[in-house]
Amino acid sequence: MTTLGSFQSFANEWKEQDEKMPVLFVGHGSPMNAIEDNEYSRGWKHTAATLPKPKAILVVSAHWETQGTYVTAMDKPRTIHDFGGFPKELFDAQYPADGSKQLAEETKKTVTTTPIGLDESWGLDHGAWSILKQMYPDANIPVIQFSLDHSKAAQYHYDLAKELQSLRKKGVLIIGSGNMVHNFRYLELKGDFNQHFGHDWALEANESFKKLITENDYKSLIDYKNYSKALNLSAPTPEHYLPMLYAIALREKNEKVEFFNDALVAGSFSMTSVKIS
Ligand code: ZN
Repeated sequence: MTTLGSFQSFANEWKEQDEKMPVLFVGHGSPMNAIEDNEYSRGWKHTAATLPKPKAILVVSAHWETQGTYVTAMDKPRTIHDFGGFPKELFDAQYPADGSKQLAEETKKTVTTTPIGLDESWGLDHGAWSILKQMYPDANIPVIQFSLDHSKAAQYHYDLAKELQSLRKKGVLIIGSGNMVHNFRYLELKGDFNQHFGHDWALEANESFKKLITENDYKSLIDYKNYSKALNLSAPTPEHYLPMLYAIALREKNEKVEFFNDALVAGSFSMTSVKIS
């Protein structure tokens, strides 16, 4: 390709299209879901099959917290096995998708209220690759991650997420990956981690979250700590909750909300996931 040709293809890379990509929040749960064929991994696969093919994917993962906000900007992000006590098969799993320096630059340009740093050291943590390995097993779509600034409150994240809106029209699938109900203190196994079981407060919280999301009551979702005891118990730390706020902040008027993998597991974890389209 000539230099001019390369320049033109680069310039056209993030052109606006008529169609906008849906947005997802995915409850990722146990890292084993990355390699198991179970109801949750099948739910992810099924949902991916309903989407237009993304040009690239941007994941806001619960497992990448930073001071300030960063996007990954390497060509070949490594697969990070950021967990312990799992079988070798899971540590051997790789997700060899390319990164996208161009999308990292585009995201940096798109967000104007806060500086976005370009990161060369992170990669894909299990919040990102465990779900993508099931959704897009060919790993042929470039992926970048967007970090969570742990010094900021929920309102900040909600407002920041709104700035990513234009990426949807450029073929970017934005996915928040966490768990709306996520409390290790009340973990209680009834057999396998993935077996359906939720404490009363966790079941109540799951219903409240679905109601508030459906009604687009984002004020209550931002102020979740004061909404009810059940919601407060759901997110003793914010990192698994905030990725959901990124997804709902991107919902535009007239867009519909669908839930999938709607279940409580291990007493105090929800797999409930959201598709906005
Ligand atoms: Zn997690």
